[in-house]
Amino acid sequence: MTEQVPPAGTPDLAPKQGTSSGEHAPARVQPALPSERARAAESADVIVVGAGPAGSTVGYYLASSGLDVLVLEKTSFPREKVCGDGLTPRAVKALAAMGVPIGYGDGWQRHKGLRIIGGGGRIELDWPDLSSYPGYGLVRARTDFDQLLARHAQKAGAKVLEGVAVDGPVLDDRTGRITGVTTKQGERFRAPLVVAADGNSSRLSVSMGLHKREDRPLGVAVRTYYTSPRHKDEYLEAWLDLWDGSSLLPGYGWIFGMGDGTSNVGVGLLNTSTGFGDIDYRVLLKKWLAGMPAEWGFTEENRTQPIRGAALPMGFNRTPHYTNGMLLAGDAGGMVNPFNGEGIAYAMESGELAARVITQALARPTAADRERVLQTYPKQLKDAYGGYYTLGRVFVELIGKPSFMKFATKHGVKRPAVMRFTMKLLGNLTETRGGDAVDRLLNAVSKMTPAA
Ligand SMILES: Cc1cc2nc3c(=O)[nH]c(=O)nc-3n(C[C@H](O)[C@H](O)[C@H](O)COP(=O)(O)OP(=O)(O)OC[C@H]3O[C@@H](n4cnc5c(N)ncnc54)[C@H](O)[C@@H]3O)c2cc1C
Repeated sequence: MTEQVPPAGTPDLAPKQGTSSGEHAPARVQPALPSERARAAESADVIVVGAGPAGSTVGYYLASSGLDVLVLEKTSFPREKVCGDGLTPRAVKALAAMGVPIGYGDGWQRHKGLRIIGGGGRIELDWPDLSSYPGYGLVRARTDFDQLLARHAQKAGAKVLEGVAVDGPVLDDRTGRITGVTTKQGERFRAPLVVAADGNSSRLSVSMGLHKREDRPLGVAVRTYYTSPRHKDEYLEAWLDLWDGSSLLPGYGWIFGMGDGTSNVGVGLLNTSTGFGDIDYRVLLKKWLAGMPAEWGFTEENRTQPIRGAALPMGFNRTPHYTNGMLLAGDAGGMVNPFNGEGIAYAMESGELAARVITQALARPTAADRERVLQTYPKQLKDAYGGYYTLGRVFVELIGKPSFMKFATKHGVKRPAVMRFTMKLLGNLTETRGGDAVDRLLNAVSKMTPAA
């Protein structure tokens, strides 16, 4: 699929434009409920669909720039989101940049690194000591985390409407450009630009013709919570030994202490394993936990939540990231890091980038100028992550081979130098400029590798 070229006669994106005569909401008309009619005529400079980490970050930055931004979220906070709840130093940096309170008394569980267990070895690695990223990570349940971020965006001036499920775009007949969205509740909201931050399934992207790419990696993971004495663990723990019979599976099991009496425990696998579609993840989780020491408490009696699963869209699995007035951020644009399954930092970073591009675009005097700026969004994403994600695709192919996975865990985990290198590579944690030999090597290889 190619990136969108600016259409001739690109319409004016002047803030809060009215309905054009050629505008339509494809194939759906529902009566609005009386209480909703009051807000049915709403318009904004930008509509953001979804208030996960990506959407709230877009909302925060746009509102901070003085733009009128409307964030539409189908659920109401607090709400559950299936996740490991782990934040690496990359995500901590993104939170700090937004001024989210992340001090000791602010309700976060802090950790100092990663404990990796596999191939008969066990190693504790502190997060790298860098000027570009903080030397610690955080954990917080998404029920709480997503609400906190949405409220932070609201405080900055974003209008966040909860319980509003977007069910399609409003299109301009003449240009095919998005000019707003309709909702399940029968409302219609208008804006010259729309950000799809509606997660992995991204119904909005699909209704604009953007489907998932089959040539990109996809993960599936399940998680639950157990009451455990390990809830204040100072390290995120990753287990590389996930077996299906005699095959070592491409993925890992995790135990993340929540600091509230429970641990978030889960397993995630990549679609490069042969039996990917056939694996029963709940059974895999239970089999893995059955081998744990009893005193850790990972038993059915101590389970506090159902086992729930979801997909992790990786390595830009939906493109282009800008088309016809719509930008994709976070999981909607398949931004999860294929090396480690981390998605929150990338949702927030792409959200910030989308907001900065939009702010610059809307400050331009002509429609053609604005369009030219918007077209830089996919290019900027590729510059930031393209080469690294291409390497990630090679990595997931390799670890999909049980013999490679077995060799890597057997010979890697016991070697601290190899593991420190691996941690920087998998976590995408290098100095942005300069740094040590490993940083320079990883940055150079990522830059030299073509983005695709
Ligand atoms: C089991 C599991 C474990 C994971 N563990 C980690 C981890 O430990 N650390 C990490 O960094 N990442 C982890 N991830 C990945 C991470 O959860 C995602 O990458 C991240 O949530 C992406 O954020 P987002 O804002 O793009 O999307 P989401 O968090 O999915 O948010 C999308 C939002 O859009 C809303 N929405 C959807 N459709 C509509 C609609 N039609 N109208 C209005 N609103 C809509 C949803 O309700 C939701 O609030 C994990 C994922 C899984 C599945």
